[in-house]
Amino acid sequence: MSNLKGKSVARGVPGAHGQGSDSRARVSANHGRGSGDFVFDMRPLGRQPGSVRDETRTAHAPDGLGSGLARVPAAAEVALDLRFEAVAEGVLVTGSAVAPLAGECARCLDPLASTMEVSFQELYRYAPDPGEDEADEERFLDGDWLDLEPAFRDAVVLALPLSPLCQEDCPGLCAECGVRLAEAGPQHAHGADVDPRWGLLRQLDVSDRVED
Ligand SMILES: [Zn+2]
Ligand SMILES: [Zn+2]
Repeated sequence: MSNLKGKSVARGVPGAHGQGSDSRARVSANHGRGSGDFVFDMRPLGRQPGSVRDETRTAHAPDGLGSGLARVPAAAEVALDLRFEAVAEGVLVTGSAVAPLAGECARCLDPLASTMEVSFQELYRYAPDPGEDEADEERFLDGDWLDLEPAFRDAVVLALPLSPLCQEDCPGLCAECGVRLAEAGPQHAHGADVDPRWGLLRQLDVSDRVED
């Protein structure tokens, strides 16, 4: 989680510098974090502005994608639907990613599983202008290779719910005894706050609750 914006993340695909005929396979094999799935070859697109290519791919989510109560599990399948467009200064990527989402309900802590979809549009430039400092926010191609992973990471991190809920109106846990209120029912209460309708049962001494 600490390396989301580092310059090195957006560049430096091991094995991607050569012009070998079998480059993609080598990139995938050599990409240590198993995220070569997010590296795309821009040679079929070419550099003629206006050139467009659509590509779909199933990639495997990188590690460490999530925070707090919600995350995309490592190696989970991510469906990428992308459009690459050559523009004067680089390649514009527009697309979406659908990924599984795992986590815990922020109120009752039940495990939850769902999916999330993020969309993004990012410009990957061919190279910084002469004399320009490579700003952290910018993304660059590495030769003919475009590593979508940092853009995907940023989009997911922004979209992850801070307080995921198992259901919209999850009542959470009882503040006193920790029981899940969805199971205990609306009448669940303690001491003086007990629902009056239960008063008769309490007189019959079937309740083991502590009297205040
Ligand atoms: Zn819940
Ligand atoms: Zn309780």
